[in-house]
Amino acid sequence: MYQSLSVPKEPSLSRQASQRPSSQLPPSQRPSALLCSNAMAAAPVSHAASPAESAFCYANEAIIITDADNRVLEVNPAFCELTGFSLEDVQGKTPEAFSILPLDNSRNTRLVCEELPLRDRSKSQVSYRSHDGQFYPGMMSINRVRDEHGEVNHHVVVLADLSAIPAHTRHLNREVYFDALTGLPNLQLLTQLIQESMQHADAKQLPLAVCSLDIDFFKNINDRLGSSVGDALLSTFALRLSHLLFGDDVLARVGGDEFVLLLHHGVDDDFFEKLLTSIRQPLLIEGQTINLTASLGVTLYPNDQVQGDLLLRHANQAMYRAKQRGRDTFHYFDPNHDRQLQVRHEQRQRFIDALNDGELRLHYQPQVDMRTGKVVGVEALIRWQHPEHGLLSPAQFLPIIEATTLEVDLGEWVLTEALSQLSKWQKQDIRLPVNVNISPTHLLNSNFSQRLSELLATHPDVSPSLIKLEVLESAAMHDVQAALKNMARCQLLGVTFAIDDFGTGFSSLTHLRQLPVNLIKIDQSFVRDMLIDHDDMAIVESVIYMANRFKRPMLAEGVETLEHAKALMALGCELAQGYGIARPMPADSLPAWLVKWPARKEWGSLAIPVS
Ligand code: C2E
Ligand code: MG
Ligand code: MG
Repeated sequence: MYQSLSVPKEPSLSRQASQRPSSQLPPSQRPSALLCSNAMAAAPVSHAASPAESAFCYANEAIIITDADNRVLEVNPAFCELTGFSLEDVQGKTPEAFSILPLDNSRNTRLVCEELPLRDRSKSQVSYRSHDGQFYPGMMSINRVRDEHGEVNHHVVVLADLSAIPAHTRHLNREVYFDALTGLPNLQLLTQLIQESMQHADAKQLPLAVCSLDIDFFKNINDRLGSSVGDALLSTFALRLSHLLFGDDVLARVGGDEFVLLLHHGVDDDFFEKLLTSIRQPLLIEGQTINLTASLGVTLYPNDQVQGDLLLRHANQAMYRAKQRGRDTFHYFDPNHDRQLQVRHEQRQRFIDALNDGELRLHYQPQVDMRTGKVVGVEALIRWQHPEHGLLSPAQFLPIIEATTLEVDLGEWVLTEALSQLSKWQKQDIRLPVNVNISPTHLLNSNFSQRLSELLATHPDVSPSLIKLEVLESAAMHDVQAALKNMARCQLLGVTFAIDDFGTGFSSLTHLRQLPVNLIKIDQSFVRDMLIDHDDMAIVESVIYMANRFKRPMLAEGVETLEHAKALMALGCELAQGYGIARPMPADSLPAWLVKWPARKEWGSLAIPVS
């Protein structure tokens, strides 16, 4: 499984050399010849030294070469510097003899070597004794080097000082930074390691993948098999994962069954597919075979250009998406999508402020009966008086709150405002019904009618019959039963209904018959082009025919010219609203418009004298 992972090889010379059987190496690079003496630590490598020799001598990491039995043959100067031991001190000993111990105390480096008969590489977290006599966390990787017969020739052990990554951790307690069960770095240390990894990625222009991994249905396994099996499973699982790491990769355990991988090599779909495949291999725990799957969420730095804690959060978000997508899969975090969500969130916050700070306005557009010339009502239309962007139309901000509960807040604001405007107009002897647009989310809200009755009660001077609720045909169709229920309750309160944008929602005739609407509004998109587009004309004719058959009054929206008005009259539609009559206007402009309207003779001529 490990071998099949297609991860790019590290270009380091020592690594490349160690991946080839020693007998195939040129003599100067065979284990014994590869090594420089400890004296070389102080002196520069002679010009005659091969690149492999200088890599060994000048590596930052401690390098130990052990024989087939894991007994020390050679160590490099970095090892001596880190541990304070000379080659003579450790020669012939196994690493645990000079206190390089796996953090999982039940295992030693020999076991680490032996338990992987199929693999020639392993990596694990260890604690090692430094020259000051104190123990520090380290990362030990062991590469087994074989001869041409496949026999183990020697081992290359590289010990990286983990505590040196965040310098101040050297003086702190191990429990603070390492998970007690698995010995892996915990969230605390991981947070610092991410920071380090980001700097490393920046400095070396390398990619960094932060991968959040969560075992699927772990709770069920834990409940079924008991927590001790659960613990053993987690330890074994952690070990399996740690064997999949390369170079500076980090594995941390950040919660019960949650792990995080910091991957410093380029990763792709293929890599994660193979990672999932190896996770799927059965695990043998206390005599039981357990099959696991996991969900992975990945974010890629610097593509996802955020702070470390956010990187982790993004990887987690992606992991939850992988869970939603059915588990046993991986999902990449999408920074662009996230930025869009962030912008949307900020826009919604701004809208909430607008609602609370009184930046919203209602404009009113008159509706007339073309036969009598009378104004029959007005439609309340929302506007946002934005301090920087000026007067915004609904199309510029309603999409921001679409399908959120903010639509309910806005709807209640509009109803409140319309009721108080009706009350003011009444005091000026203007008694006109007001049509209020109700969004689908608002209409289908379970306590819609209850809230409406409370709002109506705050204006006892206003007759509920002066309120007509315009509902979109598509809203009613979304959940017909719920819509019918709410509409029936509202009708009991005395309000009436109009069906808005009729013709755009593909409602069936059955539903149209069911809906308790008192007015059908023909959508302006059909009306606008009815004089030039035969199809639109056909739709307008059909809607008028249908409304007549169902004996419902109808109103044409978007009546921009007298020609439209005449054509509609000829087809039998007498109620109209549109720019040809009046554009939506602020409430204070309406009284003056009402005075002037009868003087619009050209519209008056449409009126048929009532005998
Ligand atoms: P709507 O309810 O169909 O409102 C009619 C829209 O057509 C209004 O646009 C109006 O200004 C525009 N209009 C009227 N006559 C003409 C005309 O002759 N030509 C043209 N081209 N347009 C005309 P507005 O005010 O931009 O509103 C757009 C939509 O926003 C409304 O369509 C309605 O669906 C929604 N809306 C407006 N106010 C509210 C509100 O308070 N609550 C909710 N939920 N939606 C609202
Ligand atoms: Mg409307
Ligand atoms: Mg409309």
